[in-house]
Amino acid sequence: MNEHDTEVMAGIFMALGYQATDTVDDANVILLNTCAIREGAENKVFGELGHLKSLKLEKPDLLLGVCGCMSQEESVVKRILEKHHFVDMIFGTHNIHRLPQILNEAYLSKEMVIEVWSKEGDVIENLPKVRKGKTKAWVNIMYGCDKFCTYCIVPYTRGKERSRRPGDIIQEVRHLAAQGYKEITLLGQNVNAYGKDFTDIEYRFGDLMDEIRKIDIPRIRFTTSHPRDFDDHLIEVLAKGGNLVDHIHLPVQSGSTDTLKIMARKYTREQYLELVKKIKEAIPSASLTTDIIVGYPNETEEHFEETMSLYREVGFDAAYTYIYSPREGTPAAKMQDNVPMEVKRNVCNA
Ligand code: SF4
Repeated sequence: MNEHDTEVMAGIFMALGYQATDTVDDANVILLNTCAIREGAENKVFGELGHLKSLKLEKPDLLLGVCGCMSQEESVVKRILEKHHFVDMIFGTHNIHRLPQILNEAYLSKEMVIEVWSKEGDVIENLPKVRKGKTKAWVNIMYGCDKFCTYCIVPYTRGKERSRRPGDIIQEVRHLAAQGYKEITLLGQNVNAYGKDFTDIEYRFGDLMDEIRKIDIPRIRFTTSHPRDFDDHLIEVLAKGGNLVDHIHLPVQSGSTDTLKIMARKYTREQYLELVKKIKEAIPSASLTTDIIVGYPNETEEHFEETMSLYREVGFDAAYTYIYSPREGTPAAKMQDNVPMEVKRNVCNA
């Protein structure tokens, strides 16, 4: 999602007449488009700001900005204001389209320009983009997330679920097909909730996939899925195959119903396994991958063993495993982080 936002910002810069540079030393404007999902990612940004400080001292006219998910966190803005006052602008995820105005203000102002919207606005269409790849392209289908899993900062940094209109998405995919792109990845924090926010039409992710598969483009993927919203119609459509890639990334996070409850994932181990069964029956060639968090607050050895047994039972093709790290502002950050780091590391490396 952030990478695609960077493509949009690059598009806005191009439209304003800027050119990309190969090295930071040649740049007149540097934006750090940040990720807030894990503490490590945030630390890297602060480290990078430290490096850029010397460049800013050498080139006082250089404009330095921080944008993306971290900017949506009050504590981050406070820290930049206090410790990194050489930063010229901070803006968030909801007002990327305002980049020309923010830049202009930063050029004119002696003060740090901060424009962070706490509430998401309407979906803005037709922003320019400079796509990184020539064969693969990202296409946003929705923004935000309403799920509020207890460990996750995304609903706070990306706002409520807002779906793009089907016609706009289909037009973008058709345009990419005409340009010769070979693979499209439909993007959303929870693509399976697509369309839930429409008040005038009954149109869900399965309907969208059913239309997009008719477009002449070799491969269509999507990311990321939430098991709770993965419905039968979508499975039916995916089973039609063709250009719909039979890889499904289906984050489980834990195989223990107790831990899933603490995570507020809103499904049980049994419901997840039932979903997997349905997918495998309908699409025997399906390749399944997942995400797993290790060492969640109150997770016991037995809970972890349940995750391992679920992993074996499903027969995933791959899993991204993460050591739990608390994110300030989330409900889990208030829970006692009571699994020792050594245990988390051991099981994650096992
Ligand atoms: S569904 Fe995904 S993005 Fe939404 S809160 Fe849960 S983990 Fe975060």
